[in-house]
Amino acid sequence: MSAPAAGRAAVVLDDGQLGVLARMLGDALERRTPPGDCADCELAREISRIGGADGVFPAEPCEACADDLAMSDEYVALAAVFGIETES
Ligand SMILES: [Zn+2]
Repeated sequence: MSAPAAGRAAVVLDDGQLGVLARMLGDALERRTPPGDCADCELAREISRIGGADGVFPAEPCEACADDLAMSDEYVALAAVFGIETES
C-alpha cells in the first residue's frame, strides 16, 4: 500500500463507514455498468446479428457505454483497495 499523497491524511474506516462505502460503490457500479441497451448499442447489435455474429454485445460499444465501462472498472479497482467485493 502506498503512502498518502502530501496534504492528504491517511484514514482508517470503521466497519460502519466501510459498509457505507461499499453501498456507495455498489450504487455507482449499478449506475455505470452499461446494460448495452442504449439506442446506439442496440443498432450495432442489430447490425452484427444481420451480419451473422452472435449479437450478444457489440464488439465496440458506443462511446457513452465505453466510458461507463471504463468508469465501472475504476470503481471495481477502488473497491478492491478497500477489500470490498463487487458483484460480477
Ligand atoms: Zn451504448
